[in-house]
Amino acid sequence: MDRKILVLALSTLLILISCTLRADTLDITFLDVAEGEAIIVKSGKHTALIDTGNIVSGHRVVQYLQSRDIAQLDMLLITHPHLDHLSGVFQILPHITVKQRYDNGQTLPQNQDIYRWYQDSFRTSNYRAMNRGDVLALGETKLTVLSSLQTGNMNRRSLVLLVEHGEVRVLLMGDADVSVEATIMEQIPNLNAKLLKLGHHGSENSTSQPFLDRVDPDYAVISTNADNIRGYPSPLIMDRVRQQGIDLLLTYEDGDICFRSDGEDLSPCSVIPVALGGPRTGG
Ligand SMILES: [Zn+2]
Repeated sequence: MDRKILVLALSTLLILISCTLRADTLDITFLDVAEGEAIIVKSGKHTALIDTGNIVSGHRVVQYLQSRDIAQLDMLLITHPHLDHLSGVFQILPHITVKQRYDNGQTLPQNQDIYRWYQDSFRTSNYRAMNRGDVLALGETKLTVLSSLQTGNMNRRSLVLLVEHGEVRVLLMGDADVSVEATIMEQIPNLNAKLLKLGHHGSENSTSQPFLDRVDPDYAVISTNADNIRGYPSPLIMDRVRQQGIDLLLTYEDGDICFRSDGEDLSPCSVIPVALGGPRTGG
């Protein structure tokens, strides 16, 4: 009888341990790709890249991955086809193996060479268009598409992604604006996230006060360059974020920005800098 109780207690304990312990950590790194965005999501041995920087800065993504001996991406997602998100693919595809490719599937203007080249090189094998509600598994991490509005406006059609690792939630807004935020707020009651990557490089047409209240993050990230030609990020939005007591990080000031999740909590982690230069092609 005692032995039965002991076995029962031990098996209950094992179940509890397996439920609470998470074997893999999740690292999210916002690379400093100047004017644009590139986010590396690494869950255990699995790596996803969300956006690729621009045609000039995309090589930094290659350098970063090679410096960490990542020769293969499990998935590469393009949130929307503006050139500050998409055109680093031409730097990445020749150097890094990509298992699965995703974007929002929108029709691209074929009278523009860069989109024709993108269509021919990216939307080929192992490619799938993503829609709202689609879910991808990256090791122990789940990526859910919260929005991709069916509209001709490229920013509004951005793939908005919720990254979930245990209890930790991260919201990546692409270049979505306040109208997308309003739609998401109507559709999804729980938008709480520990980290918010602000929409549209911190411009004034994103990150409404009600949306910020709903997400209520501990950290916020803006990815853009210094002296941005369009005036991003907006001082108004930065004030709005900081006044809420949110820790705001900026790629043009902080460089590469890293966060680590253990499945329960998220905290900043240090990044070993990668020097700027041409892509490493040999060896
Ligand atoms: Zn952009």
